[in-house]
Amino acid sequence: DIAMYAAKALPGTAALHYNADMAATSVGSDLQDAIRDEQLFLLFQPIVALDEDHRVLGAEALVRWNHPVHGTLAPDTFLPLAERTGLIVPLGRWVLRASLRHLSTWPAGTLLNINISARDLREADFATAVAALLEEYGVAPAQITLEITESMPVEPGESFTVLNELRALGVKLALDDFGTGSSPLSLLHDVPLDEVKLDRAFTQADPDGRVSVAAGVAHLAGALQLHAVAEGVETPEQAERLRELGYRAAQGYLFARPMPAADFEALLPAAARA
Ligand code: C2E
Ligand code: MG
Ligand code: MG
Ligand code: MG
Repeated sequence: DIAMYAAKALPGTAALHYNADMAATSVGSDLQDAIRDEQLFLLFQPIVALDEDHRVLGAEALVRWNHPVHGTLAPDTFLPLAERTGLIVPLGRWVLRASLRHLSTWPAGTLLNINISARDLREADFATAVAALLEEYGVAPAQITLEITESMPVEPGESFTVLNELRALGVKLALDDFGTGSSPLSLLHDVPLDEVKLDRAFTQADPDGRVSVAAGVAHLAGALQLHAVAEGVETPEQAERLRELGYRAAQGYLFARPMPAADFEALLPAAARA
């Protein structure tokens, strides 16, 4: 039941994950109100250097929904519905604005990764909207990296135009969940990427040899001069192996869970703080 799901998570970051009963609840129908009424909020998971000091390089913004009945909902409870209904577009605009609002209050040079949907790239005005928000909040384009998940195909054509427009603004682009999708390698060639994020299925290396995928992705990233980031690092052994493979940065519960903005802000290096 719902209480069981909520109880598993940590205080402050507790979030309800999907269970079958929720399809029959109001979760599905309230999303439009949630966007309008500011029921969404962001958590920030630090991205750290994979060397001895594990200094904080930046964060990834992760959306949550403070549902009036169900409490804090994780994205897997509402993003699939948002994708199906097209509400992902206004939701994504909310996430971008909120992300830049936070960034504008942090030390200059703080880096933030923001997830976007493949659907956003089919909006011809997407890059223009991003440029306007950067301007409004006085954030430098190079401070943000937009993450496109590999699990949802980016269609050639219009979407590539938008990606190139974003890159021309100076915004960085990452391919998220790398290794889980079915992107042709030509995507890496055609899209001006800056970063690949190794999916946690491959980070959490194991007896059946998936660690070789982590090595392969590191080589590929090196050859294409892409920044390689590992997701879902939970043990010191994983961190060490990934460092040896050439990953310079990582995120995962070993270092920090997604946290409220104020907690992330307190982690920013003193030298960078105003
Ligand atoms: P993602 O972008 O791959 O984000 C990483 C997910 O892994 C997050 O789940 C994070 O909490 C979780 N994670 C981080 N470290 C660990 C770890 O060490 N172990 C494990 N088991 N998990 C870890 P979260 O926040 O539930 O987000 C799930 C997905 O929802 C994200 O995956 C992303 O695809 C999507 N998402 C989240 N926020 C947004 C958003 O604002 N916009 C869009 N379009 N998608 C979002
Ligand atoms: Mg991501
Ligand atoms: Mg990811
Ligand atoms: Mg992932």
